[in-house]
Amino acid sequence: MNISRLARAIAESPTFALNEQARLLRERGEPVINMSIGEPKNKTPITAILSSATKLSGGDIKYTPPDGTPSLKKAIIRYTEENYNKIVAPENVIVSAGAKQSIFNILYSIINPQDEVIILAPHWVSYPEMVKMVYGIPVVISPEDGTFHPRMEDIERAVSSYTKAIIVNSPNNPSGEVFSSEFIAQIVEFCETKKIFLIMDDIYHRLVFDGYTWEPAYKYTRADIEDSMIIVVNGVAKLYGMTGFRIGWAIANRKLVEVMTNVQGQTTSCTSALLQAAAEGALNGMQSVVENLRLTFQNNKQVVVQELKSFKGIHLNPPKGTFYALPDFRAYIPSSLAKDSEELSKLLLKKALVVTVPGKEFGMEGYLRLSYAGSVKDIKEGIERIKWVLDPTSPNEIYIGDRKLVRDWL
Ligand code: PMP
Repeated sequence: MNISRLARAIAESPTFALNEQARLLRERGEPVINMSIGEPKNKTPITAILSSATKLSGGDIKYTPPDGTPSLKKAIIRYTEENYNKIVAPENVIVSAGAKQSIFNILYSIINPQDEVIILAPHWVSYPEMVKMVYGIPVVISPEDGTFHPRMEDIERAVSSYTKAIIVNSPNNPSGEVFSSEFIAQIVEFCETKKIFLIMDDIYHRLVFDGYTWEPAYKYTRADIEDSMIIVVNGVAKLYGMTGFRIGWAIANRKLVEVMTNVQGQTTSCTSALLQAAAEGALNGMQSVVENLRLTFQNNKQVVVQELKSFKGIHLNPPKGTFYALPDFRAYIPSSLAKDSEELSKLLLKKALVVTVPGKEFGMEGYLRLSYAGSVKDIKEGIERIKWVLDPTSPNEIYIGDRKLVRDWL
């Protein structure tokens, strides 16, 4: 086949693939519970609808500047001042088609072939693939067994003369871990001193529970933004439940933003004027939308913690934020039922119609990621079904939809 070696080496996004499987099963009328999906279930915030509706009814939807409309950039600057206590200039901001494109464009703009990027497991599925796409080398660091928090000494040991960037995602997908202020302070100082880019993926930054706090990396630097190694990534997908709008942004020094703008100008040109108007509406509108989502996920997290407590052999570090949990299933894998997290995830789909994401995808073999962005009913039933498949102490009969199923494999 005449397909490039590089493109062929890029893995399919497992979360999108699983989501598609769930959709097809549901279309066939199967009572699937989707615990794989990473998106809130809320309706689009009304201020986002009104702002994009006004734009649409004006009938003037044209190209925008490649780095975003001045008015959305203004809203992002205000958001950054309010949430990061940092004043940035329009030249420090670039809007992209989701945080995903922001991260890709950052990597494309800073990586030379063979440069290394440090990724902290458990990590978002796309980081290693994106690094490979720009001919860089992902260097994945695992946490100490049983924990999800990175350690500075492991990072220092992994840094080489090729290290160009470190990606930090806190609150973290897939673990829900929120990194400590001490760690953020240390890594900021480390990167500023060593001149390594520190990419802060803050896409979940306001979804933090139980009094834990998220702190912006900017808090710990004295460097002017033009000299700082910090690059901030954020967007409307998770905080406002606007995943389908595809609006994210990056904040960095002017030179990097200029290069990213050239890259974007030669690829997508710009993001849609209509969707930028929607994002502007969300950022300038009532922020209770975000707080309501946070409260919902905090409540759902409690349900997950409670349900998993009675699951024999399962250990969970309770999430401190996001809408994901990453329980340890090593009591059940490897076993005669499944040799690894991928087989386990397939088994749960086949036997119990529950969609989960194998920990392997996040650099955490032995774990499964469960999303609790859905309803409490689905979360409870999903975990009950998983218990039924695996836990010999759970009842061996279950109703899935209107079918009564009997477990005969334990
Ligand atoms: N970073 C992380 C950690 C994510 O989980 C996601 C979405 N799953 C993204 C970035 C991408 O967000 P967006 O939808 O804005 O592209």
